[in-house]
Amino acid sequence: MVEHPVVELSDCILCGVCEAVCPEVFQLNDAGYVEVAEMEDYPEDKVNEAIKNCPADCIHWEA
Ligand code: SF4
Repeated sequence: MVEHPVVELSDCILCGVCEAVCPEVFQLNDAGYVEVAEMEDYPEDKVNEAIKNCPADCIHWEA
């Protein structure tokens, strides 16, 4: 199975940085949490950039 990014919603402070860095994967939805798009192939560098810049350190890869 492909690795996919996961947001630890309980730690997320909804700052919007992940969406700013990589909007094709991360989206703040109307319900007030970050949704991770389902993709065959994630843009690894941009996801890693979002992981690096997330102030709550709550994005990680999962297999
Ligand atoms: S960057 Fe981190 S804390 Fe900010 S909205 Fe995204 S997942 Fe939440």
